[in-house]
Amino acid sequence: MQLGLGVELDTCVQCGLCLPHCPTYRVTGDESRSPRGRIALMRAVERGGAPLTDEIVDSFETCVQCRGCETACPSGVQFGHLMERTREAMADQHATVPVWQRAAYVPLSHPALLRAGTTALAVAQRAGVVPKRLGLPEHLPLRQEPHDISGGDVLLFTGCVMDTWQRDVHRAGQRVLETAGFGVTPTADLAPCCGALHVHAGLADETRRLAAKMMADLPPDVPILVDSAGCGAAMKDYGHLLGTEEAAAFSARVFDISEWLASRIDRLPAVDPLDLRVAVQDPCHLRHVQRCHLATRTVLAPFVRELVELDDEGLCCGAGGAYSTLQPKLAGQIRERKVASIDRAAPDVVASANPGCSMHLTAAGVRTAHPMTLVWEALSAGR
Ligand code: SF4
Ligand code: SF4
Repeated sequence: MQLGLGVELDTCVQCGLCLPHCPTYRVTGDESRSPRGRIALMRAVERGGAPLTDEIVDSFETCVQCRGCETACPSGVQFGHLMERTREAMADQHATVPVWQRAAYVPLSHPALLRAGTTALAVAQRAGVVPKRLGLPEHLPLRQEPHDISGGDVLLFTGCVMDTWQRDVHRAGQRVLETAGFGVTPTADLAPCCGALHVHAGLADETRRLAAKMMADLPPDVPILVDSAGCGAAMKDYGHLLGTEEAAAFSARVFDISEWLASRIDRLPAVDPLDLRVAVQDPCHLRHVQRCHLATRTVLAPFVRELVELDDEGLCCGAGGAYSTLQPKLAGQIRERKVASIDRAAPDVVASANPGCSMHLTAAGVRTAHPMTLVWEALSAGR
């Protein structure tokens, strides 16, 4: 079977320096669940004609795609792209994405369908039949307040599930941007989904379709700010995924909202900080992919009493998009390490800039808040 990995596969020298940074290796100690082991298996399939056995599929499917191995690798191995390409080949040639999973992704790019499903979930939640371990927001909305447009200086990407389940985070981010003097247009149904979950699963063609639609539908030249680390990482990768100059130019105007604000922090007024000790949880797609996680600290620091660091060197929390649903056992084991680190830091609240991470941690009893929610809370209290 051909995975189509090309010369990128040759850059790994099998040194193993990435192993301590791989969450699945840390909890299993199994080489086939490490980056080095996975690359060796990719080579065996691509170059050695090895059959794609269930064991090899399992090795690939248990990867969280956190890309902690990339920032640790001295040889610059682009592991994320290798794994995305491998997943795409597996989905195309080996039918590794079942029909139910493909069907579950359909509402993501159909806002009306997603809203109807959310209303049904909200009703079920109020009837007490939704298990808490799913980590859904405590009060899913029965209906949403519409977005409001305050200007055209920046676009605020609102996406799919986050817009339906956590619109309050977008609203907080918008108010913070407005306080800094920017007129904001939420993208709302104009750009319903970035395709991050699809490309992780191997459905890259659907991501290309969503990317092309977004590029055609959004106004040109305006900065696009994103308050979900996973979405921002996917949109910054459109240039690579589509391989066109137009896509690269689009990706170049995508910024994480804290990344954007960090260099404009003096536009926000000084107010009394919230009386909170806040631990920052770095979503992998902010730390290892966008590599702008320090901006979260720059933006948060003036607005809370104390920021504390976790002592696990940014190891993944196990959320990984749909990973916590598809690999619940491993996701739970990985999360245990993160929760232990949070317990040692003993914060009042954990700031997380990714909805998947915050829901995964909330399901384990951790109190989380988006950084923008905290900043807006301080700003609005100081008015
Ligand atoms: S991915 Fe990088 S760090 Fe890991 S074994 Fe290969 S060369 Fe070494
Ligand atoms: S992406 Fe994450 S889970 Fe996958 S091999 Fe790299 S470090 Fe391990």
